[in-house]
Amino acid sequence: MSMVDLRSDTVTRPTPAMRRAMADAPVGDDVYGEDPTIRALEDETASLLGHEAALFVPSGTMANQIGLALLAHSGTEVLVDKDSHIMNFEGGAAAALWGITLRAVAGPGGRITREQVCAHVKGVDEHIAPLTAVAIENTHNRHAGAVWTFEELAACFGAARDNNLNVHMDGARLWNAAAALSVPPSAFSAQADTVSVCFSKGLGAPVGSAVASSRARIARGRFLRKRLGGGMRQGGIIAAGALYALRHHRERLVEDHARAARLAACLRELPDLDVLPVESNIVIVDLTRRGLDAPRESDRLREVGVLAHDVSPRRIRFVTHLEIGDGDLDRAMNAARSVWGA
Ligand SMILES: *Cc1c(COP(=O)(O)O)cnc(C)c1O
Repeated sequence: MSMVDLRSDTVTRPTPAMRRAMADAPVGDDVYGEDPTIRALEDETASLLGHEAALFVPSGTMANQIGLALLAHSGTEVLVDKDSHIMNFEGGAAAALWGITLRAVAGPGGRITREQVCAHVKGVDEHIAPLTAVAIENTHNRHAGAVWTFEELAACFGAARDNNLNVHMDGARLWNAAAALSVPPSAFSAQADTVSVCFSKGLGAPVGSAVASSRARIARGRFLRKRLGGGMRQGGIIAAGALYALRHHRERLVEDHARAARLAACLRELPDLDVLPVESNIVIVDLTRRGLDAPRESDRLREVGVLAHDVSPRRIRFVTHLEIGDGDLDRAMNAARSVWGA
């Protein structure tokens, strides 16, 4: 039985056209700054994000960590949401690599508020590690791909500015946020001091992420990337997949969002399932009221041909992407009805 794989938008494989673009890409040694494909990708990414410069890196984790290192230093604190990727899924990198302490707060819907920023600003006191930056996530993975409103962003960024704090935006799925509100990505990211984006999620490239900021910060970022072992020589081969995705796969993200909305509507009709609000390509269903176990339920879904991800003991996540068409969605909805129907 072929499986409908809704575990993550990272499972997508390069399309034939993307593979051709990769095979044909002009390349050079990027550590010498001579890979034309990487340079083109960095330039287009920077301009879409409203920043002076961008740096191609192997993963979103490296993009976030370079962003943090550019904005904060050893012995200081960065404020994050408790459910964020930086807090939970980067192997303790901020502490291990840079000596940065993360201060986690429960932002409503994963969005850090003005009050939360202000409450964590500290005066000069010999007991206290100074807060130097705020890192936010847009869209928010663990909050079902929630998109920040511009009011929420302005409040959080404004509080950071008022208190001389830097802001990093984890925009692994910023392309989805932009598609959801029909705005350019820069509408969210231009105000951040550093922003990370992934090409390997909804955009469907096999590998790659970027971090964008000022020219001066990105020059320092190049040094940090090399230090981390992320200098990639003829990396244009993979950057070509990312560049193709950036040019050809952003507009179609709204299709993923529409399918996620259909899946959510189907799940809401099943008894006693709680579906988090769906704003982009992620659907999270909470099984608490049914008293069901998420790992066990994802096994049952697998038996009927659907792969999903148990993100917590009571929650299962479905992510729509490039390889999920209407037929796959119908199969997934029928599987959900057969497993959780009355
Ligand atoms: C996937 C993801 C990352 C990091 O991506 P990797 O490329 O897997 O390191 C960072 N932030 C968020 C919100 C993500 O979903």
